[in-house]
Amino acid sequence: MPSLIHTLQSIVKQVDHAPDFQSALDIIVDSLIDALQVDACSIFIDVPEQERNLVMMANRGLNREAIGRVRLATGEGLVGLVAEKAEPIRLDNALEHRSFILFEGSGEEAYPVFLGVPIIAHRHTLGVIVAQRSRRPFDNEEEAFLSTLAAQLAGAITHARSSGEMARLLDDGGSVPLSRTLDGVAGAPGMSMGEAVVATHQVRLHTIPDKSIDAEEVAGQVERFEAAVARVRQQLMEQAERMRQSLPAEECALFVAYAQMLESGSLIDDTLALIRERQWAPGAWRQTVEAHAAVFASMEDEYLAERANDIRDLGRRVLQRLMSVEAGDRTYPRRFVLVGENIAASDLASVPLDGLCGIVSEHGSGSSHVAILAHALGIPAVMGVSNLPHTKMEGLTVVVDGYGGHVHVDPRAALLQELKQYIRHEQRVSDSLKALKDKPAVTTDGMRVSLYVNSGLMADLTPSLESGAEGVGLYRTEIPFQIRESFPSEEDQYRIYRDVLETFAGMPVVLRTLDVGGDKPLNYFPIREENPFLGWRGIRISLDHPDIFITQLRAMIRANAGLDNLHILLPMISSLEELDDALILVHRAKDEIQDELGLPLRFPHVGAMIEVPSTIFQIDEICRLVDFVSIGTNDLTQYLLAVDRNNESVAELFSSLHPSVLRAIEQVVQGAARQGTPVSVCGELAGDPVGVMALIGMGIDSLSMSAGSLPRAKKVIRSFSQQELANLRLQALSLHEAEEVREFYAARLDEKGLGDLIRAQKR
Ligand code: PEP
Ligand code: MG
Repeated sequence: MPSLIHTLQSIVKQVDHAPDFQSALDIIVDSLIDALQVDACSIFIDVPEQERNLVMMANRGLNREAIGRVRLATGEGLVGLVAEKAEPIRLDNALEHRSFILFEGSGEEAYPVFLGVPIIAHRHTLGVIVAQRSRRPFDNEEEAFLSTLAAQLAGAITHARSSGEMARLLDDGGSVPLSRTLDGVAGAPGMSMGEAVVATHQVRLHTIPDKSIDAEEVAGQVERFEAAVARVRQQLMEQAERMRQSLPAEECALFVAYAQMLESGSLIDDTLALIRERQWAPGAWRQTVEAHAAVFASMEDEYLAERANDIRDLGRRVLQRLMSVEAGDRTYPRRFVLVGENIAASDLASVPLDGLCGIVSEHGSGSSHVAILAHALGIPAVMGVSNLPHTKMEGLTVVVDGYGGHVHVDPRAALLQELKQYIRHEQRVSDSLKALKDKPAVTTDGMRVSLYVNSGLMADLTPSLESGAEGVGLYRTEIPFQIRESFPSEEDQYRIYRDVLETFAGMPVVLRTLDVGGDKPLNYFPIREENPFLGWRGIRISLDHPDIFITQLRAMIRANAGLDNLHILLPMISSLEELDDALILVHRAKDEIQDELGLPLRFPHVGAMIEVPSTIFQIDEICRLVDFVSIGTNDLTQYLLAVDRNNESVAELFSSLHPSVLRAIEQVVQGAARQGTPVSVCGELAGDPVGVMALIGMGIDSLSMSAGSLPRAKKVIRSFSQQELANLRLQALSLHEAEEVREFYAARLDEKGLGDLIRAQKR
């Protein structure tokens, strides 16, 4: 008899390759009958919108008519009890249990031995699996087996919910349909509506969306597909030929075999058939490749199962060819929402920004760089939407709620109406704040606060200037590096920096030196690390590559000639030594440029980012070395709380309002005050109305934020006295949790009639 672990692997494999959710459930109940030698097995799924929320969706061994009919509320019956307690229940005679409810005609009374385990994901019960027998009691091993299987099923349920498959299944059963609201985390604030465009920048087979085409487009798509296949076939034959000298014959044979698979046969015929059914070529190819790969993958024979990878590899090659042609021809709707598995900052560079009105990404969180960029551009974003059905979303209407972190896909008429109203209301709030543009940010008792913008794209310079900012508090120079194919030359960089310094002539501009690594990769400078946020990042790379660093410093200092508004900011400082070493290189670059220009140059202001916790405890020493410090609350929060800023699974734990983070900021402010060093805050906290209240309360008078946040921040500053905020700070610091701090400040905003300035913000 196969071991339970082997059986488990086999069931999971079959479930992974099931054509749809219902088949996956059926496979599980069928397999369990044999694996556990039980008489009956059933799966209940939680359908939150329903009064009796636990619906039997599959069974074997009981009356099949019970499927869709047997429904229980949480806490009702044994199944409801498993869901309520969120723990397994094992009984030798279920019929005697006080919670037992018999469903007439189900046939359950014949199987009193009961084992029910909850299906749980992220603290929520998604359903219950039940196994029943007429006699032999269940043992520990069987219980552990069923619990492990339940954990595996959680992903499939979340996916079925978010893809709308569950809604369709329940619709067929005649019950209330689920709404297609997907939950993620708030990425960039705002609410907008547009047509979904699936990002295909990073070509990966499973990210290719389905897309219907018109009858007259079929011939063109067939032609493209055939041309791509012919080209890849030719490349493979050439590759085999080239490799004949250096590789054993069987390795070369693989390329020939690949090429032959592309000559004729079902891979090609099935794709052509799908195109003729009006699916675009990349979508048709994806479906065919996945179907063929699934057949191989589900085979027991390891050698044959491995062939699935060959098919996927071949799939990728053809797709790449196909997409390089498509990319050139791509047209974008007037207002569109960019949707994808892992939208990166560089994706924004390959779409027309004037039509981009929202971003939805399966991975990432509110502190990911693409979210911060979206915020800078005023584009609402929702990140970390688990199991986002991106391949099915092309062309659908999508409403992005960047406040609450929700996405409404193809909303029904009533909801759409409500959402439109909400968008109009938001627009009115924003319009009402426009009048503040030329007014100073002064508290009611006269404390003047300088408001700067965070920037990084050329596209956001004009909105930044028009927002009424008094300069640039953080220019992320890695962004122009990220959207290029190779390192920009000193001349390229000079032009970029000169543009920023000139646009804000007469106002301070803080150019931060390269902060790549972490979640900001450069395609042309690959870094492979197990733990990139604790790895080679920011100043560490610059100091290890003085060639790159000096080029950047030279470009900055040259761009500053005659303008004198440059401030250089050093990211990811974690020790005094790094600061010393960096300063030596700034001096060297300044001396070189001075000699070359033959002009006396002023030494730029140099500052350190305070974002690694070690700097809090050496703040006095750091301040003695630099002209200013800037607190990066995004990384400071990540490192203090040990919460990956990019990981949606722990996004709930990421909050810069955590009392420990606030106390850390206070220590920095106090240290800097002792040394007479100016402090500003440039992380996302500085643009959050609640964060503004906390920071002004600590006496911070310089904040840098996304241009879109500026009007709200100014409104808050002009509505309170510093004294009032300083008093609130004392109360806020005594609270225990980030959520309490947010609620505490939100209540004060409400008292002033400013509740509209904040929405369901999570950070
Ligand atoms: C920060 O860490 O708070 C910061 C401003 O820098 P970045 O978000 O670019 O890492
Ligand atoms: Mg940072």
